[in-house]
Amino acid sequence: MGWWFKLVLWQRVLGALLLGVAVGLAFRSFGGTVVVDGVTHYPGAEFVTIWIKPFGTAFVQLIKMLVVPLVFTTLVTGITSMGHPSKLGTIGVRAFLLYVFTTLVAVSIGLFFGSIFKPGSGVDFTDVAPNVLAGKAPSMTERLINIIPANPVHALANGDMLAIIFFALLLGVAILMVGKKAKPVEDFFKASVEIMFKITHWVMEVAPYGVFALITWVTATKGVETFSSVLMLALALYLGCITHMLVMYGGLIKFVLRLPLIRFFRGILDAQVVAYSTSTSAGTLPVTIACVQDNLGIKPVVAGSVLPLGATINMDGTSLYLGLLALFAANAFGLDVTMADYALIAMTATLASIGTASIPSASLFMLAIVLPVIGVSPEQIALMVGFILPFDRPLDMMRTMTNVTGDAAVATAVAKWEGELDEEVYRTVAKV
Ligand code: ASP
Repeated sequence: MGWWFKLVLWQRVLGALLLGVAVGLAFRSFGGTVVVDGVTHYPGAEFVTIWIKPFGTAFVQLIKMLVVPLVFTTLVTGITSMGHPSKLGTIGVRAFLLYVFTTLVAVSIGLFFGSIFKPGSGVDFTDVAPNVLAGKAPSMTERLINIIPANPVHALANGDMLAIIFFALLLGVAILMVGKKAKPVEDFFKASVEIMFKITHWVMEVAPYGVFALITWVTATKGVETFSSVLMLALALYLGCITHMLVMYGGLIKFVLRLPLIRFFRGILDAQVVAYSTSTSAGTLPVTIACVQDNLGIKPVVAGSVLPLGATINMDGTSLYLGLLALFAANAFGLDVTMADYALIAMTATLASIGTASIPSASLFMLAIVLPVIGVSPEQIALMVGFILPFDRPLDMMRTMTNVTGDAAVATAVAKWEGELDEEVYRTVAKV
């Protein structure tokens, strides 16, 4: 076993992912099948769900446990270590503009691949049970008002990210303004960050096992045939997301920031694999923050502010998917899509992705916002959700990975522009 621990973390995490696919497929095929009331069951997959998946769930709980304390303490310390809050405005504006820009590019790539692969053509909805997910998404005004926490403790307890960012910003700035008297509080937060990072690094050590359990479970329960029912959609999504990561983020890192690209992808690989296996970008946040600080040299003020904001509002994989699903609906229900419709889809998908929660399958809640613009009725939306939900997990994995990669790319850009990037760390081979 010594060789296993000699590997650096990202190699162990990647190895666990590949092993999980192989073991999951083995359980599915060697466990045989049982048909009960016309429904095919896979005993091998059921074994995995009972005996292996809980290890994955435990890992997800472990990283989720760190999200709130890590984000809160990192952001407060990031601001106090800046010495002056003047930079906050430019960090926020730059991050926000870049988030919106990359999201628009993503949805355009989604529409491009959607018009090539034509997902949804010839789909048969006769046996599909409608599923209404609409109504759970809060309105824009509500979301904006809720950025101000009526009760900060409540916001922390609920993991309400934007409200936590808001309060942490005020707290950090106030500590700076109060000055000498607030020094003990400043030191307290500094020490807390160190402590939270210590725990984060422990949790990351178990990432390979968590990733293995989750991937084994997904492959055993879904198998590869999952993809065949939504083949064109899956192909368009995977190719679209890969293109977006290479062209948009790759172009930004290499040509705009003039930084080595391989280092970027190598540096955030742990976060990408964790995002891929857990399907939640908010849950992955502690790993993303640790990766960009340890491996890319992004300073806490940017990592602690841009990444939590990104995990909440920047979802390029999601907007790309929403664009694809709009074309899926148009093809499945025989609707005409004009040039103006494309523009409308791009705008609503961008807005909807900003409002999407960073949890598994959250995109599907947003169909109620995007699809009506091209004339899809609520009944048709319910049918589509019912059709896609069972296949959504492998698609969700890819878009979550894209979402997290986008957050890290924007954080790198903002850090570089603000002089908050330690290029020596960035250019050194990742330690973990
Ligand atoms: N699962 C995605 C995320 O957490 C959101 C989605 O597209 O469903 O980033």
